[in-house]
Amino acid sequence: MDIYLDANATTPVLPQARQAALAVMAEDFGNPSSVHSTGLKARAWVDDVRARARRVLGAERGQLLFVSGATEGIQTAVVSALHSARERGLQWQCLLYGATEHKAVPEALRHWNALLGLNLEVLAIPVGSDGRHDLVWLRQHAPRAALVCTMAANNETGVISDLDGIAQALQGSPALWMVDGVQALGKMPLRLAERGIDYAPFSGHKLYAPKGIGMLYVREGAPFTPLLTGGGQEGALRAGTENMSGIAALGAVLAALEDGVTFQPHDQLVRYRDQLAAALKQAFPGLVFNAPLERCLPTTLNFSVPGLSSKLLLDLFDAAEVHVSGGSACSAAKAQPSPVLQAMGLPEAQAAGSVRLSFGPVVDARFVDEACARIRVCGESLRQSCLDATVPGQGAPADGLTRFVVDGACCYLLADAASRQAVVIDPLPELTERLAQWLACQAYTLVAVLDTHSHGDHASSAGELRDSVGVANMTGAPIDALGWPVGAEALTLGARRLTRLPTPGHTADAHTLLLHVHGTLQLAFVGDTVLPGALGRSDFAQSAPKAFAGSLCTLRDAVGLDTLLLPAHDYDDQFATTLGVEIAAQPLLAAVLSGEMGAEAFAAAKAQLELNLGLTAYQTVACGAQVGARCEAAARDLSPADLLQWLQAQPNLQLVDVREAYEQRLGNVPWPDDAAAMQAVPLSRLPEALPRWLRNANQGPVVFFCRSGSRSAQAARALRRLGHAQAFSLRGGLALWPRAAGVAVDAALAI
Ligand code: PLP
Repeated sequence: MDIYLDANATTPVLPQARQAALAVMAEDFGNPSSVHSTGLKARAWVDDVRARARRVLGAERGQLLFVSGATEGIQTAVVSALHSARERGLQWQCLLYGATEHKAVPEALRHWNALLGLNLEVLAIPVGSDGRHDLVWLRQHAPRAALVCTMAANNETGVISDLDGIAQALQGSPALWMVDGVQALGKMPLRLAERGIDYAPFSGHKLYAPKGIGMLYVREGAPFTPLLTGGGQEGALRAGTENMSGIAALGAVLAALEDGVTFQPHDQLVRYRDQLAAALKQAFPGLVFNAPLERCLPTTLNFSVPGLSSKLLLDLFDAAEVHVSGGSACSAAKAQPSPVLQAMGLPEAQAAGSVRLSFGPVVDARFVDEACARIRVCGESLRQSCLDATVPGQGAPADGLTRFVVDGACCYLLADAASRQAVVIDPLPELTERLAQWLACQAYTLVAVLDTHSHGDHASSAGELRDSVGVANMTGAPIDALGWPVGAEALTLGARRLTRLPTPGHTADAHTLLLHVHGTLQLAFVGDTVLPGALGRSDFAQSAPKAFAGSLCTLRDAVGLDTLLLPAHDYDDQFATTLGVEIAAQPLLAAVLSGEMGAEAFAAAKAQLELNLGLTAYQTVACGAQVGARCEAAARDLSPADLLQWLQAQPNLQLVDVREAYEQRLGNVPWPDDAAAMQAVPLSRLPEALPRWLRNANQGPVVFFCRSGSRSAQAARALRRLGHAQAFSLRGGLALWPRAAGVAVDAALAI
């Protein structure tokens, strides 16, 4: 069973609402404007639902219009208020909206303000750390405002506005008042008429009606301008033939609100919320709630777990089939902090790591119990992966290389299970706590913290990490500025050996670290000397541009063309590269390595390239300049249907689960274990696994999968770029895999 905990985004449609919609589609399908009996029946539905809505909303008088949703209701209210402001011609100065309002409100204000030529100042009403409006500020500004918009309850945090306080602050102001009632509907009384609210938009799909139906309340006497004109429907206030199935379904939801049994009473919802909050606290002991629960709708919990990103938490919950949402928009390469939480003054990391869990008032004890049980399992899985900072000592010993990435910068942890020793390469300040926690949890001894070079974009956090963990100095020798024991030829961790090679260029002190396993060179940490698709820039104060060409030749002589090179920056999720791949992509590199271009000419050509190096997609200093044509290996993805066919037809197919161990541990992979050669290679462990597939590139296709298809696409692209033509990813990931049709899947697999 899926545990859907994202009701503030949308809800399923109540069975009785579905039935009502079907009834008006199949039987009473008339147009309410027709005068024959089919039309009259449809009209009766509309009248009946409107009467119910008036009762439920406490809006006996005024207009109650059916619209397509809250966004349309908001536009209509804004157009009405702004048009009237223009007509009234007072000395308006501003339009006000709560700083945590849904985007539809400020966007509508700005849009219509410009379009109607009012050009008033559009100002956000500040909120306190509890998410509530600053009423002193509001009282000061309201006398100059044409319209004030304050939501009844917030969609991200569930914070309930002090509508009575706002009503008082607006007393004596000529401003019209819009209250977005979307998240409040069915969860708290609004007393629209009593409070003197002028406009209140609602959306059906947030409360078990379908998408595409909503309502707008307009106070009797409040100015009104239709947004849509045409056939005169809705008393000529909103033209367009009515969405009859939506209205009928909404009517069934309103009837459920009135019957007093379908929806849980407030006290019961509070008990369920408290039960979920306790389960979350138990699962993630460091968790903080981002809004005071006593000020919030009982159906919304917004929280952050220090040290864990919202992406990680969402992946984890999803693996347990618990569907929640992240408070931050991930539109950019970097997770953006939630503007709502920022407006409340929360620290950026907390605002960027928030998770929202929301349920509707049709829940029951069984659902909540199951949700709590799965939340606890999620916490347990994190502990197994040593990701819970409060509980050390539970992980199984890890072995090998793990990659961490922060805004395109890479840090590597090399662990040796046999000796219980670890080395960190190119530490990043954001990871100090997590690495320290991991080492303590695994009971590993940190034997070195190494930098490949003195970084130009950030200060090394090696000292911080050493201080927080303590480093066992194996050689007894003092360490140099990059953490390497002075005079040591190699660092040994069990069967693994690290040696280093001076490769000045990007910086004068740059070194490449070579990893040998059982005496064989396995891969090289090249810092920023060579990046996938780029060469490290050499215009920093600490750069040695004229030494760069020689270092590239030294590197080639030491590692050849096929050894995997792991960079200190990976802006495009390519993971690794080889000199062979880069020679094909970068003419400048090819020219240097073939001897065609000397050190001086190379330094001059590079300086030219670096003249206008902009910031990266992460808004950080770019450490590499793209040299030559970008060699973009396209990911090739398979639809679930393709993969089902391949599973039967390709005996050598390898399926690779690139989800992290804390997700894999939760199971729920929809195909049987023996469906294909199945491997678990979390994305953070991918670099070490790449050579294995590259060595056996003719052993059949490799299909990566993950939760949504994005991480697996990265893995497939990386492997393809390195020369494995048969690397694919499963489009849409496990999310789109036909799980409900389990029988069909089994049949397709012939089991
Ligand atoms: N207002 C609030 C508070 C919301 O949560 C939403 C939807 O998320 C909207 C307005 C917009 O609703 P719709 O997209 O249904 O028009």
